[in-house]
Amino acid sequence: MAECPFCRIVQGDLPSKKVYEDDEVYAFEDIHPQAPTHVLVVPKKHIRGLPEAKAEDSQVIGHCLCVAAAIALECNLQGSYRVVCNSGPRAGQSVFHLHFHLLGGRDMRWPPG
Ligand code: 5GP
Ligand code: ZN
Repeated sequence: MAECPFCRIVQGDLPSKKVYEDDEVYAFEDIHPQAPTHVLVVPKKHIRGLPEAKAEDSQVIGHCLCVAAAIALECNLQGSYRVVCNSGPRAGQSVFHLHFHLLGGRDMRWPPG
């Protein structure tokens, strides 16, 4: 989608600090990091968010989670990190292209705000 910022990042039309890329997934540093490690993992395919995901998206969504785990390992997060998918405006989703936040490198509290 031409007007979607994460589609533009995936296509290289907007700059990003790439962490990982394969045929299906792109990962890059969040522009406003909320933890020492804050990486966004997105499917290259435009999916608006988790509420709009279809059964056919299951494979790529699972792959995003495995990529997040591999990046966490690479970043030496010692098996302690959080993967977050804000879904819908009331949950804080601000970019409507499905993405998983990988956050780590500091203590986390629960429940999230
Ligand atoms: P959400 O609020 O939708 O869960 O997360 C969107 C995230 O995308 C935010 O953490 C925000 O900082 C990040 N973000 C928004 N626009 C850009 C951008 O153009 N580049 C990068 N690297 N991150 C972005
Ligand atoms: Zn998009």
